Amino acid sequence: MIEIQNVRKSFASLEVLKGINLTVDKGEVVSIIGGSGSGKSTLLTCINGLEPINAGKITIDGTEVHAKSTDLNKLRRKVGIVFQQWNAFPHLTVLENVMLAPRKVLGMAKAKAEEIAVKQLSHVGLAEKLSVYPTRMSGGQQQRMAIARALAMSPEYMLFDEVTSALDPMLVGEVLDTLKMLAEEGMTMICVTHEMAFARDVSNRVAFFHQGVMAEIGTPDQLFGAPQNPETQKFLASVR
Ligand code: ADP
Ligand code: MG
Repeated sequence: MIEIQNVRKSFASLEVLKGINLTVDKGEVVSIIGGSGSGKSTLLTCINGLEPINAGKITIDGTEVHAKSTDLNKLRRKVGIVFQQWNAFPHLTVLENVMLAPRKVLGMAKAKAEEIAVKQLSHVGLAEKLSVYPTRMSGGQQQRMAIARALAMSPEYMLFDEVTSALDPMLVGEVLDTLKMLAEEGMTMICVTHEMAFARDVSNRVAFFHQGVMAEIGTPDQLFGAPQNPETQKFLASVR
């Protein structure tokens, strides 16, 4: 499980996470919503150790992410992250792009890496695209390739940062369906999202971030149906 305890994070004099507490259990799906600049992306990058923290503690299955002794490369294999945009290697096919990390990071033999890449690409509905170059695919297909690439490392946790927000509206559904499938398979996920229907539908809990604070967290029914915090109410009114 992921345990976030009183985490504070600043960029220079700007404190962007002001004491975040959140525990995500195995198999749980937690969505994070909130306005731009509220600290959502920063939290994800702190969880997988891409960013240091100023105070507090994040542990993943008991391993303290920011402890000096922690092997961050090992930890990141366990925690996959997919961003709004991933720049695939344009000179490599879709299959080769997905094989790259298992080959380079895990030192996997070519045949084994290929087997895993084919499996994960099929899983996200791209079995027909193995030998295509990424630039020849739609944005939705490219995002599904990015998800397959993360899954090829056999992560136990997945972090998604607004993976649909750069997409044409008509391509959003196929990517959300892929996330939903992963959730149904029991993947532990934290999803930063603008898609309120998705958050409501797929999450066990939804957290609302406001100015570096987790202002409210609850079940989808609680958070969307009966928000308690005035800032949550304001935010939800603005996105409806
Ligand atoms: P969100 O994802 O909720 O939109 P972010 O976590 O990206 O918010 O950003 C929170 C705040 O931190 C913003 O004010 C942003 O400008 C600032 N910030 C994010 N990353 C950096 C950085 N690398 N250097 C300086 N400021 C940053
Ligand atoms: Mg963000």
